[in-house]
Amino acid sequence: MDLVRDPRELCQLLQLDFDDFRAAHMDLSPEGLAAAQQSFELRVPRSFVGRMRKGDLNDPLLLQVLPQGRELLAQAGFTGDPLDENASHPAPGLIQKYHGRVLVLVSSACAIHCRYCFRRHFPYAEHRQSRDDWQAALQAIAQDPNIGEVIYSGGDPLSASDKQLAWFTEQVSQIPHVHTLRIHTRLPIVIPERIDEQSLAWLRQDRLKVVMVLHSNHAAEIDAEVAAAIGKLRGAGLVLLNQSVLLRGINDKVDSLAELSYALFKQGVMPYYLHLLDKVAGAQHFDVPEAEAIALHNELKGRLPGYLVPKLAREVPGATAKVVLG
Ligand code: SF4
Repeated sequence: MDLVRDPRELCQLLQLDFDDFRAAHMDLSPEGLAAAQQSFELRVPRSFVGRMRKGDLNDPLLLQVLPQGRELLAQAGFTGDPLDENASHPAPGLIQKYHGRVLVLVSSACAIHCRYCFRRHFPYAEHRQSRDDWQAALQAIAQDPNIGEVIYSGGDPLSASDKQLAWFTEQVSQIPHVHTLRIHTRLPIVIPERIDEQSLAWLRQDRLKVVMVLHSNHAAEIDAEVAAAIGKLRGAGLVLLNQSVLLRGINDKVDSLAELSYALFKQGVMPYYLHLLDKVAGAQHFDVPEAEAIALHNELKGRLPGYLVPKLAREVPGATAKVVLG
């Protein structure tokens, strides 16, 4: 993967002065910034950088990925494991939060590090999958006839190799009570060339219904290459949905959300969820309070046809489903 990992290089590529950026976004100090980078390193594909506006300190794509010193400020209510995921593992690499569905952490890696990620502190090392772990995960799924849907998550599941994904999917497809495979991924958005003949070969399924939930937060993320990748997924018969996170300074305006819904729809992707930020430590500056989010969502409902309005939702640890708001 062709990634940018150095904050100074990223600023250079965007013709930005690094110190101006720090000053504009209330950084603590160069040391603070370095510590933020160390706790969750910058990782952004060059093709995604290519969609950022040059010379813009407030570019909505840039702000999603560039470490900031203020990530280190502690804030009450923001924790390392906001969804209490460490408590719900039927087998290594499996997370069962809701009835009938199970999440498989098929990869601990991501092509991009989103600063607001609720798994930014997740102990992936403890959930790294060996072939034996994958067998144990498959056995746990096979033994629970209530599981009808298997959800590939991560990290980004498409960071795993096609060889691994094809093998695992083949095993899942042989479990009679599993009827749906869902894949949560940001990779077709950030590295659209990831969708190629090798990936399409296992994504095309006869028996399993395959749903791909993309993750895009802003219309500027969807360029011609992304549109082409989405077209291939559509052609392979996948159901395509999108989920976004409502982020202060990125997409917290009705115009921006409406533009995103239209951009997705144009490519045949239905807006599905608009999530309130999970209160993960280091992401507090992205938070939009619930009352403001509901008002914004109501405004969006007045602007768009109902089928283009994503559900506003919050995840609550221990709840039996997402809590839909508004
Ligand atoms: S792509 Fe998803 S899992 Fe990866 S860092 Fe971004 S939000 Fe987190």
